[in-house]
Parts: sequence; C-alpha cells; structure tokens
Amino acid sequence: MPTSLRFRVIENAFLKRPVEVKVPNERPSEYFGKYVFNRAKMQQFLPQDIYEKLTNSIDNNLPISRDIADAVADGMKKWAISMGATHYTHWFHPLTEGTAEKHDAFVELDKDGNMIERLSGKLLIQQEPDASSFPNGGIRNTFEARGYSAWDPSSPAFIVDDTLCIPTVFIAYTGESLDYKAPLLKALHAVDKAAVEVCKYFNPEVKKVIAYLGWEQEFFLVDEGLYAARPDLLLTGRTLMGHESSKNQQLDDHYFGAIPSRVIEFMKEVEIECLKLGIPLKTRHNEAAPNQFEFAPIFEECNLANDHNLLMMATMRKVARNHGFRVLLHEKPFKGVNGSGKHNNWSLGTDNGIMLMSPGKTKNENLRFITFIVNVIKAVHKYNGLLKASISSATNAHRLGAAEAPPAIISIFLGSHLTQVLQHIGSEELDNLEASSKQGINLDIPQIPELLIDNTDRNRTSPFAFTGNRFEFRAIGAEANCASAMIALNSAVAKQLSDFKRDVDEKTAMGIDQQKAILSVLGEYVKESMDICFDGNGYSDEWKEEAARRGLDCETSVPLIFDNYLTDETINMFSATGVMSKKELEARNEVKWETYTKKIQIEARVLGDLAKNHVIPTSTKYQSELIENAYKLKLLFSADKAEKLCGKELDTIEDIGTRIEAIKTYVDDMIAARKEANKIEDMRERAIAYHDTVAPYFQKIRANIDRLELVVDDKMWTLPKYRELLFIR
Ligand code: ADP
Ligand code: MG
Repeated sequence: MPTSLRFRVIENAFLKRPVEVKVPNERPSEYFGKYVFNRAKMQQFLPQDIYEKLTNSIDNNLPISRDIADAVADGMKKWAISMGATHYTHWFHPLTEGTAEKHDAFVELDKDGNMIERLSGKLLIQQEPDASSFPNGGIRNTFEARGYSAWDPSSPAFIVDDTLCIPTVFIAYTGESLDYKAPLLKALHAVDKAAVEVCKYFNPEVKKVIAYLGWEQEFFLVDEGLYAARPDLLLTGRTLMGHESSKNQQLDDHYFGAIPSRVIEFMKEVEIECLKLGIPLKTRHNEAAPNQFEFAPIFEECNLANDHNLLMMATMRKVARNHGFRVLLHEKPFKGVNGSGKHNNWSLGTDNGIMLMSPGKTKNENLRFITFIVNVIKAVHKYNGLLKASISSATNAHRLGAAEAPPAIISIFLGSHLTQVLQHIGSEELDNLEASSKQGINLDIPQIPELLIDNTDRNRTSPFAFTGNRFEFRAIGAEANCASAMIALNSAVAKQLSDFKRDVDEKTAMGIDQQKAILSVLGEYVKESMDICFDGNGYSDEWKEEAARRGLDCETSVPLIFDNYLTDETINMFSATGVMSKKELEARNEVKWETYTKKIQIEARVLGDLAKNHVIPTSTKYQSELIENAYKLKLLFSADKAEKLCGKELDTIEDIGTRIEAIKTYVDDMIAARKEANKIEDMRERAIAYHDTVAPYFQKIRANIDRLELVVDDKMWTLPKYRELLFIR
C-alpha cells in the first residue's frame, strides 16, 4: 500500500536520533592535514635536495624533471602506504559537476613474479584514463585522439579511505583541455603575470600575484527515507512538484538559529573529516530556508580552494549517509524558499603579503588599491555577459532571479564611499573634495592618504559585491565547480590589467608623469564602466529595466546566455591570455548545450512519469470516493437537502476532474514537444528548443499537481510533502 509506505517513511524520519560523532582526542591544529602530502610530509618522506627542487618548482611554476618525479612518487607512495593506503588515483575534474577517479593498486610484479608496491614517476606525472565517455564536445572522439591526465604539483596529494588521490589536469592528446583545472591554472597564471606588471608601478619588488578564493557552500539536508520516497529529488536533485508548506521561512526563525542536534553531529563529522583533508573549514551556520545550512573555510589560493571545495562536497555527501541524511546541492531543490548558492569571495594578493583589494594608509597604497578596483570594475563591465555565462546552468537558472537570489544580470555593488571616491577620479574638483567629504575619507585623490571603506554597508541583492577587502561573486550556484566562474573572472581581469598597462605606458611614453597617467586612464575607465555599478535593490523590476537601458546583458535563456562564450570579444580575451582557444571554447559550449538539454529532458521524463503514475491515479481514486459519497447522499436525502449537503463536493469533484484532464493534456503536449526537439541535430538549437518549448510545461503541470496535493486526502497522497521534507526533528 503506497499510503502506508509514506507514513512509515515519515514516522521513521521523525523518530531518528542523532548519531554521536567521535571527536578526536587531539586538537584540530594537530590533526589538520593528517591525510595530506603537505610540505611537512614531503620533508619527512623526500630526500632534502628533492624536497627543495620540488618546492622551488611549485613556487615558481617551473617544470619538474623525470628524475625528480621518480623520487617524489617514491616518497609519496611510502607516505601513503604508511597511512594504510593500498591504491592510488589521478583525481580530475571533467566537465561535469563532480570529480573523476579510477583506482589502481600500488602492486606490481617484479621480474621474478613477486608482488611489490610501486608508484613510478611516470605514473605520477601522466596517465591515460579510459575516459572516452567524459563530455568533450567532439574534441576527443574515440577514433581520433587519446586524452591523458597530468599531475598538478601545486595542489597536494591526499588520501581518501584507502586511496592516494593525485590532483591532475585532464587534456586531449592534441593539447586541448577537457576539464576545469587546466584552464583555471592558465587563468591564474595569466592574472599573476598581468597583475605583477601593474603592481610594479607601485611596488617594484613584487614577483608574484596570487588569486585567492574563499567559498561559502550552501546546501539542504533531507532525511534519507523521505528522499528515497521522492523520485524527483532522487533523479533530478530537485522537487518537480509540491505545494508550499504553510510555514516555511516567513518567520526568519531558521537563519542563525540553533542548529538541530542531528544536523550538528553531521556538521561535526564533516568538519573533522575536512580538517584531516587539509580543508580549513571555519564557519557553519543555518541558512535562510528551513533545512538549509552553510559551511565556509578560510580563504586559500584559488586552485587549492577549488580542489578543496570539490573534495568538501564529496565529503559532505559521504558523511551525510552516516547520519541518515542526503545532501542537496541543487540550486533550487524547493520552490518558494531560498535556493542555494556558493558565494565566491575573490581577491588578489602579492608574494610579499600585500592585499591588492584592501585600501591602505599611504597615497601609494591607495592609488594601487583604486587601480585594482577600477580595473576589476572595467573587466566586469566589459565581460558581464561572459561572467553570467560562467555561472549559468539549467539548475542555477531556477535560483537566479527567484526568492532572495541575485537576478540574471551582473552588476557590482560598491557602497557609497567607494562610489564617491571613484566618481571623483580625474575630475577637476579634486582639490575641493577633501573639504566637502563628510565621510571621514580624504578624497584628495593624488594624495589619497587613508580610505575607510565601510564594509558593513552590505547589499545582499547584488551578484558581485565589494565587501571591504575582496569582491564577493554571489551568483555562483551551490552545485557548480567554482572554476567555471574563476576562469572567466581571472582571465577577464588579466586581460584588463594588461590593457591598462598598455594605456598607461602609452601616456608615459608621451612624457606624462606616471601618477598622472594612471589617474587619467582610471578616470576614463570609470566614465566608461560605471554603468555596471548599482547599489539599489537588485530584486526589483525597475532594475531590470534600468539594466537594459544601460546595455547590460539581461538575457534569461540559459542556452542563449552561453553564446557569450563565442563572441569575438570573449574569443580574443581567452586567446590573448592563453587560457582557451576558439576550438576549446566551441567544444565546451557543445558540452554546455548538451548538458542543459539532458537535464531538461530528464526532468520532463520524471515529471511526466510521476504525473501519470502517482498523481493521476491517486487523485482519481479520491475523486471516486467523493463521487460515491455524493451518490449515497442523493439516495439518502431529498434532492433539495442533498444539494445542500454535497453541492461543494460536486465542485471539488469537478475541480479534480478538470485538473486531471489539464495534466494529461500538458504531459502529452510536453512529450510531443520533446519529440520535436529531439529531431534537431544542432546542439545549440536543440537546447534552445528544450528551453523554449519543453521547459515551459513544467510550471503548468506543477501548478495543477500542487493544487491536487492540497485537495486530495492526505492518507492517499503517495509522495512526502514539503512540510515533511523541510523540517528535520
Ligand atoms: P559572509 O557570509 O558574511 O559573507 P563568511 O564568513 O561566511 O562571510 O565567508 C566569507 C569568506 O570570505 C570566507 O571564506 C573568508 O575566508 C573569505 N575571505 C575573507 N577575506 C578574503 C579575501 N581577502 N579574499 C578572499 N576571500 C576572503
Ligand atoms: Mg556566510
């Protein structure tokens, strides 16, 4: 009986007790990085000269020779075996949301047929995973080329269970990247090079600029029993139907509230496991929606931070099972409550510890600060469409523009102080500004001595906000690989910084004083790009109109947003920075369109199935009960009286009938639309067809189902409801 199944599941969920986690006897600082082949382990397991050569190569982006690799592999293997590992894997990030790995045991047979444990430098450096089934957009068809994974020594190897995981890039035999990591490393290299050149105007000693990333991971938890009883959650990651719970987040009683004890135990275990993996988790709290939570680490170098985010998502998924939960990383698992994002806090810093997005104390420091801020603004303005494309996906589309998420338009929040400062760059009133400023900031730009940027002036509606010493890119989805956004942002800023250097050098070549040249170029940039800055309410309809007037990208169709990757401007930018070629961009877009189509296709199938074999049969059964009751009332009572007793019931019977018919019609039409769309060969056109002709049925079907859920006898309804899914006891 389906009814009893639902109630059994609910009862179980509500009876679950917290699973107490064993907290290690050591302090976090003692077990931090226990499973990581970090510098301390390297020193212990590698000969001194090898250790020095390896760290020198890592710090200065130098190639690692085969004999060093052999020695490193041997040390790494010894450490891994001492930790109980038996297998190793190249760990890479294909163009899906997750990571990929293929485990091999360390064992080999020597020439006498005896088994030995071995990891050679060759196997450490490069492998050829049989990976023809990873998305590749046609670059890597099985007849033409092999792909290989190659060691990324800048991210340390780590152990999960019995396996040594070696972070790698994944590239085609012909050199094109097939993953997220390879272009990310190139983008980070590009921004390093370009930013160092600009830094030299202010600090000639700077040798390296590091991009930092601090992500904030939002997610939902659902009881595993309830999850298993919702095929839509299981197969698509989100609920395709479900009437809003009478109580959800109206009272704001979840945000920063006490964390339920079942959840606290889960969080404790995630933290312990993450710390052991060297992921510096620091913050945990409830989020706005019921059952929604957040973890955030201390920020790190971008490539490492991103590896850590992927590893953390995998760890959460695994640990959740120990506690009878499932983690939902989908950006919008539930309609009507907040979705989940992954704010990317991003900044640039130098090898000698200067944070380039932080205002300083001297005029030189503040001119440098303004220089970097203005160049970021200009880059975000010029590439706003691309940045939006970098965070767009079938799943994040449900979140953007919905309850309390940034809209599908990229803009920058600066706060009033900084806006004021920037507006006066290059203006003649400069000298008067100091007197007129009431903010306590000296705005006498060439002599900018001290800027007090108020970072409490926060605007939650902005997709890209300046928060005092960094930018917070908030439009990224919870499920995404941060690399996508970080590749676009760091490359765009790299290109912009090298354009800036060209513009300034042109002026100084004409004999203009360097500081004047910098200010004059910045002044021009501010005029050209302040349209990207918006401090008002990003959720409002007025902003949508205003943004369109300002020429910002306001497209909401995800397949069309992806076109931003193939504009001349984007292609030039990625090729000038050496991050991606036109061929790579084209291939990756094929993957994006195909993934989009498949996601909508799966949702359409699941929704159609559930409508036909759960919702309609249940509703029909209830309707028959009502009909039977109405009949009996008519037999028992006079016509007049019966009319009084079941008049409303007849309305309900009719309402159910109308909705069932509507659902049937929409589902049939949706299937027909899908069949039409499937005939289209071109990936882009097919994705557009899925967006324009298939996806619009979801809401129409759901509206009718959700209404039926309200009407039909609760005992008969087979699927757990929002009020059950969203509240953990
Ligand atoms: P909030 O929710 O208030 O935005 P959190 O404390 O949850 O802030 O997260 C802020 C994130 O920003 C953390 O990961 C933190 O380490 C990171 N962060 C702080 N300063 C910087 C910086 N200069 N560059 C990059 N990330 C930073
Ligand atoms: Mg936070």
